[in-house]
Amino acid sequence: MNETEKVHCLIIGSGPAGYTAAIYASRANLKPVLYQGMQPGGQLTITTEVENYPGYANGVMGPQMMVDFEQQAQRMGADIRWGMATKVDFSSRPLKVEIDEEKWIEADSVIIATGASAKWLGLESEQRLNGHGVSACAVCDGFFFKGQEVAIVGAGDTACEEALYLSKLCSTVHMLVRRDEMRASKVMQARVLKTPNIKVYWNSETVEVLGENKVSGLKIRNTQTGAEQEIPLSAFFVAIGHQPNSALFNGILDMDDQGYLITQSDSSRTNVAGVFACGDVQDKIYRQAVTAAGSGCMAALDAERYLGALEGE
Ligand code: NDP
Repeated sequence: MNETEKVHCLIIGSGPAGYTAAIYASRANLKPVLYQGMQPGGQLTITTEVENYPGYANGVMGPQMMVDFEQQAQRMGADIRWGMATKVDFSSRPLKVEIDEEKWIEADSVIIATGASAKWLGLESEQRLNGHGVSACAVCDGFFFKGQEVAIVGAGDTACEEALYLSKLCSTVHMLVRRDEMRASKVMQARVLKTPNIKVYWNSETVEVLGENKVSGLKIRNTQTGAEQEIPLSAFFVAIGHQPNSALFNGILDMDDQGYLITQSDSSRTNVAGVFACGDVQDKIYRQAVTAAGSGCMAALDAERYLGALEGE
C-alpha cells in the first residue's frame, strides 16, 4: 500500500502534550489528525494515582486521566488514530510523515509530542529476562510479585516512589544506589529510609540479573570495596530515568547531546519551519503532566500562527 493523505495539522504522540495540542488545534479549526503511537496515553498509563494535576480535586488514576484527555480532544473534533510515525521527510513543503511504514501523510504543520521512554542498564541478562521478572514499571508489574523479594535500581524520585509502592506489596525491596547519596527529593528519601522492608545498598552496581527463564536473583558489586554478593529474589525493577523518543528525527531536527529536541526560546518552534515540539521529548527539566499539557497548548498556538502566516503568503 502506498497512499498519501493531506492534512493541515498532524500531531504525533498521545500523552498530555499531544492531546492538549489536539484540543487547542481542533478549537482553532486546524482539523488535527493525531497518531497515538505505540503506547496510547503515554507514560501516565503506567502510573497509579495523580494528585498534582490541577482540576482533579480528589486525584485521578493516570490511565483514567488520559482517557479524559482523549475524550476531550475527540469531543472538540480531533481525528485520533492508532498508528506509529515511522519516517519523516521535512526537506520540503508540505512536510511528510510516514505512518506504520505503509502510508505517507502530507502536512502543512507537524506537532511532535512523542514523549520519553524508560532507560535500561544495558546488561545482556536484563534484556534476556525482560518480561520474565525484569520490568521498568513497578506499578504495572509489582502485583505479580506479591509477598516476594524484589530489587529496584535507581535513586531518583521515580525509584523512591516505586520502591515505596513495592514495599506495600512485596516482603523485601532491595534498593540499589550507585553513589553514596540519592538524587531524589529529601521527602522521598526520608520515606524510603524509614520504611522497614526497603533495604538500601549504597555504592552498589548491578553485575548481572540471575535466572534462566525467569529472574531468580541479582549479582551486585560494591563499587568502593569491589565485593560482590548474590541476592535471591523474584523480580528486578529498573528506575534510572528516561530518554526522549526522538530517534525518528536524528539528523533532521536539532537536539541536545541526550536527544532532547531543541525548541527556540519562548516557543515550541524547532529548527524546521512548521514543525513544533512539546512535552517530554523537548523537556528534560520539568517533565510533569501539567507542564507537558501547557507546552502542547503552546505548540498548537504556534502552529495556528504559522499556518495563518502561510495562508497570507
Ligand atoms: P532521575 O534522572 O531524576 O534519576 C535517575 C536515577 O537513576 C539517579 O539516581 C541516577 O543515579 C540513577 N541511574 C542512572 N543511570 C544509572 C545506572 N546505569 N545504574 C544505576 N543507577 C543509575 O530520573 P527519575 O525518573 O527518578 O525522575 C525524573 C524527573 O521526574 C525528576 O525531575 C524527578 O524529580 C521527577 N519525578 C517526580 C516525582 C514526584 O515529585 N512525585 C515522581 C517521579 C519523578 P545518579 O544520581 O548517580 O545519577
